[in-house]
Amino acid sequence: MADMRNKILVLICDGMGDRLTNGYTPLEKAHKPNFDYLASQGILGIMDPIAPGIKPGSDTSHLAILGYDPYKYYTGRGPFEAIGIGMEVKGGDIAFRCNFATSTPKLVIKDRRAGRISEGTSLLAETVNNLEIDNIKIMFKESVEHRGALVLRGEGLSPHISDTDPHRDESSVLEAKPRDNSLEAIKTASIINKFTRLSYHLLSSHPVNKERQQKGENPANIILSRGAGLVPHLPSFEEKYHLRGAFVAEVGLIKGIARLVGLYAPDFPFATGSYDTDMKQMILTALKLLEEYNIVFVNIKTCDLSSHDRNFEMKVRVIERIDEAITPLKDFKGTLVITADHSSPISVGDHSGDPVPLLITGDVRKDIVNTFSERAAARGGLNRIRGIDLMPTILDLAGYAEKFGA
Ligand SMILES: [Zn+2]
Repeated sequence: MADMRNKILVLICDGMGDRLTNGYTPLEKAHKPNFDYLASQGILGIMDPIAPGIKPGSDTSHLAILGYDPYKYYTGRGPFEAIGIGMEVKGGDIAFRCNFATSTPKLVIKDRRAGRISEGTSLLAETVNNLEIDNIKIMFKESVEHRGALVLRGEGLSPHISDTDPHRDESSVLEAKPRDNSLEAIKTASIINKFTRLSYHLLSSHPVNKERQQKGENPANIILSRGAGLVPHLPSFEEKYHLRGAFVAEVGLIKGIARLVGLYAPDFPFATGSYDTDMKQMILTALKLLEEYNIVFVNIKTCDLSSHDRNFEMKVRVIERIDEAITPLKDFKGTLVITADHSSPISVGDHSGDPVPLLITGDVRKDIVNTFSERAAARGGLNRIRGIDLMPTILDLAGYAEKFGA
């Protein structure tokens, strides 16, 4: 086995942080001997993924945890929507969130969700994917139900244009307008307007829509776009830290962010993003990858799922399953980090701005905390840090930091 002493493993339990339900958080209720053993060997603290009181998305928090200031690099939901559904985007692309909608020939929207269409969208998407307008490449991919994303690639584009989505029914499709006087914004708005009309032309005669109309359903015959954003040019992880990194992730959004910064982040069939995922295999895969890479991140999604389901008992069980899966980490000789990308309290059913627990083992100044939970971690030696501080903290502990000054 490779020497693991200078290796780093970062385990991110998505949405693990919580508030109290009947006096306890799910972490406090769970039977988790491995988490607690690691706590007894390490230094703990709490972390504000973005900053105190800021409710993070999984995208902004992962940017911060990877050391990329989300206030600098997060450029709107369009790019991250496209990344999340597995579109291959590049720095400089312009991306939009989209809806399939139902339009009249005069481009008045009758139903901006096209009857919440659930079948046939991939066939419809093919029709409006891989187009070219004015030398700009246009890519479209469907997401769940009526949703999708659009990516423009080419020279002289700008994200500073307005939406074509009127955001309500019985309104005309809006003309995309430049938000500044740049030639780039004028050109991008014109391409989007051409694309919108073309989408109506291509989709209204599509067999999927003919069939829907025969069944009395609203056709998905136009693409509305909103939330234009520039795919950021991110310095690669390897350029930034001179470390080779990999990411074992389950869901498209996290894999996409990892790939955007050049981390090795393949699809693993056992990492499903749902309750049936194989967490043990994810941990073993991370350990195997560490033979080749300096740092490996893991994102386990299940805590967040149980929080969105507002199921306290399920979250406790999920934490107990993660505890079992991390058994091999008790013998890990490198720097081990266990944390979450944000809190997702059962009482909220969504992300919140509460800080998350953080635990680091390795060559650390062990503190007095012997159990892993939100409240115990708050008494630990790391005190309270931000997500953006995590990478420098880890790099220093693992012996990779360069001296600041003489
Ligand atoms: Zn998350």
